[in-house]
Amino acid sequence: MTLTGKMLIGQHATAGTREAIRAINPATDTALEPAYLGGNGEHVTQACALAWAALDAYRETSLEARATFLETIAAHIEALGDELIDRAVAETGLPRPRIQGERARTCGQLRTFARTVRAGEWLDVRVDNPQPQRQPLPRPDLRQRHIALGPVAVFGASNFPLAFSVAGGDTASALAAGCPVIVKAHGAHPGTSELVGRAVAKAVKACGLPEGVFSLLYGSGREVGIALVTDPRIKAVGFTGSRSGGLALIQAAQARPEPIPVYAEMSSINPVYLFPAALAARGEALAQGFVASLTQGAGQFCTNPGLVIAVQGPALDRFISLASGLLPTCGAQTMLTPGIASAYAAGVGALAEHAKVAAQGLPATGPNQGQAHLFVTQAQAFLANEHLQAEVFGAASLLVVCVDNEEVRQVSEHLEGQLTATLHMDENDLPDAKALLPVLERKAGRLLVNGWPTGVEVCDAMVHGGPFPATSDARSTSVGTAAIQRFLRPVCYQDFLDALLPAALQHGNPLLLRRLLDGQREA
Ligand code: NAP
Repeated sequence: MTLTGKMLIGQHATAGTREAIRAINPATDTALEPAYLGGNGEHVTQACALAWAALDAYRETSLEARATFLETIAAHIEALGDELIDRAVAETGLPRPRIQGERARTCGQLRTFARTVRAGEWLDVRVDNPQPQRQPLPRPDLRQRHIALGPVAVFGASNFPLAFSVAGGDTASALAAGCPVIVKAHGAHPGTSELVGRAVAKAVKACGLPEGVFSLLYGSGREVGIALVTDPRIKAVGFTGSRSGGLALIQAAQARPEPIPVYAEMSSINPVYLFPAALAARGEALAQGFVASLTQGAGQFCTNPGLVIAVQGPALDRFISLASGLLPTCGAQTMLTPGIASAYAAGVGALAEHAKVAAQGLPATGPNQGQAHLFVTQAQAFLANEHLQAEVFGAASLLVVCVDNEEVRQVSEHLEGQLTATLHMDENDLPDAKALLPVLERKAGRLLVNGWPTGVEVCDAMVHGGPFPATSDARSTSVGTAAIQRFLRPVCYQDFLDALLPAALQHGNPLLLRRLLDGQREA
């Protein structure tokens, strides 16, 4: 398939008019063809008008039709074959197996949402039958279901060119909810975005859906991105990226005459706690696991273990010495973009001003490579310096040495909101872990025992979210089937004739849904 450098406004390939965006192969520092001219406000208006026109028809598609659409997108992405893999590797510098795995995850995610749509639980149907004889007042017939919020703007993420981009988790969950989607592609991987965007548009056509169900725009965040977020037809936003980018979108969304929710996943340093008995029993395995998790994918994961917390002692000294011995064997890795590589270098430089460098990975041998870093500081220094808990996006981690459990608690209380918190513990650590748990539950969206936070399963129970600044809305997850809830809202129908009710709420329950009927969950 020849890349065209064009946006997709519904089914129409449209050239932009603004400054050209060109992907850069970060491994070679060379620009890739073609150029993608950025869109302007008129393109945003056209895409939003199409999305609005598509909304009512799309949100009332049958469960089967919508599930089939999601499956068709997955099939069309797979049909892109090696062309997609080659382009994504060239645009991101990520290793081929990683991109292949991400494609499988992206398609698996779409199919998981298809299963969710078919099951219909997300409609959360509740029926309270009328009680005409009730005293002093009769009760009317009340029925509730969830409907799509409206067109959703999705911002592709730099660090997951497939799984958090054009047809990634935000798009899949919004489409599953019945929301048309307009994607603002990330400028780092425009070719990958075009390939996937065309696969989605092809699925829209193959499934006979209104063209406005999906559009793909290129351009600057400050122009196209803000125009999208402030268009009155957009009703929610999905975003993964920097804290400053997320906050800019939140502010724009809040300043609208009609404010809308922004589901922004922004910044997290993912504390890892090493409890004494675990450290004493398996310091070597912990050091190996930590270094592997820290350096995986050049550390460019929102769940990267950027903070380690432990009580001082010989077992911790041994862990530091083992991890410090392993890190110098880790090669520098190509980062996603020149901007991310320089932001990483600056972040590491800033940390070095406030904490001691315990170990470094091998130095860079090519362009845009990030060198792994492990820093060490004392709890009191950490508590006194806000710079030390700023996210450094890449393979850098800070180990905070505490004098006792009380300092561990103070450091934990001092933390901003996190996506994850990890406990490495043995049975003898149980009282300490239990005592810390209430703090960690308040701080993080996912709590792990004896694992590593990198690696986020797409499933029903996953929470990839957390209090600010991990996300802008701690009540939500951006990974897993519960992500659909971000794009739904409840509607109650009172005293409706059966013929006027949506199928999900009709008396005969034609969709065979498990309803909450007069307070009892149906079998
Ligand atoms: P980014 O700069 O936040 O950009 C993400 C998207 O938001 C892009 O489409 C960008 O558009 C748009 N955007 C950014 N600032 C905006 C603003 N003020 N107004 C409107 N739109 C705006 O993130 P990035 O390019 O992926 O990486 C930069 C840094 O973000 C990294 O170094 C890292 O610190 C952080 N990051 C964190 C995570 C995480 O999961 N925690 C993931 C990725 C990145 P334009 O580029 O067109 O302006």
